[in-house]
Amino acid sequence: MIIQTLEKAYCPYCGEPIELLIDTSITEQEYIEDCEVCCRPMVISCIVNQGFSDEALVSVRREDD
Ligand SMILES: [Zn+2]
Repeated sequence: MIIQTLEKAYCPYCGEPIELLIDTSITEQEYIEDCEVCCRPMVISCIVNQGFSDEALVSVRREDD
């Protein structure tokens, strides 16, 4: 079963709102995605609290932080 949740965040470079599709079957993940607006690489880190609600904690930071 694939469970995904849509989380909202903001680009750390240009501040544009972005939507991230998170796979909540993975407890911890970190990946790089390019901003659709400014094309700079954002480091997305996501921790999923697997429980009755599968809450995803998403943080987005600049690659050079
Ligand atoms: Zn951007």
